[in-house]
Amino acid sequence: MFSGNTTTRLRHSRVKWVSVETAAEVSRTRFVGGTLALDFVNTRDGGPGAEPDDLVVSYGHLVSWARSAGVLDAGSADALHAAAHAVPTSAGDAWQRSLQVRGALDAVLRPIAAGLRPDDDALARLAAEEAEALAAATLMPARHGQEPEYEWSWDADASLHRPLRQIVHSATQLLTNPTAITRLKQCAGCDYLFMDESKNRSRRWCSMQDCGTTQKVSRYVAARRARSEGTASS
Ligand SMILES: [Zn+2]
Repeated sequence: MFSGNTTTRLRHSRVKWVSVETAAEVSRTRFVGGTLALDFVNTRDGGPGAEPDDLVVSYGHLVSWARSAGVLDAGSADALHAAAHAVPTSAGDAWQRSLQVRGALDAVLRPIAAGLRPDDDALARLAAEEAEALAAATLMPARHGQEPEYEWSWDADASLHRPLRQIVHSATQLLTNPTAITRLKQCAGCDYLFMDESKNRSRRWCSMQDCGTTQKVSRYVAARRARSEGTASS
């Protein structure tokens, strides 16, 4: 059940208000997911058996993170920071909602990456969030697309929920894309979710630099130790 998990995470979270662009937690973000929704799930760091090490510990962090992820321009991010200071209770609610949705995204996407069925409640939550997100969106000419192509845009959405809406839409786009969804994987090293864009879909690590090399080094050290122990006992 994703809801219980989320409650635990909330208890662990340190509540504080930060509006600086480069909050320490945000600057530690590794954008290796390959798509916005996966990068957001990956902000709940820690790895297997480790204490949660959340990178989104306030609404201000959510906005700074979305700015770092490239889905908010500087003006929109500043406006959201200012709005959050003006109505801190609403900003707190928007932040907590984003953490709940992050739990739901995890409960949908991680099983799929493992070839399993996602949690039904989490899937229903995601559907409801997407319906609300689209109600606040406008159709605009695609920024990086071909001439007649259009895309959903939240540029005109001044709501505190804008970052979450963009994240939710990224998730449903992934889920409903038959090619993309087969590329969803969980890193064998750090558990991050990522898109495997390799030709034969053989990637095991979120990034060679962060996890691939570490895994290879530790396997090499273990093999060398086994060899030397074998030599000593013979
Ligand atoms: Zn990794």
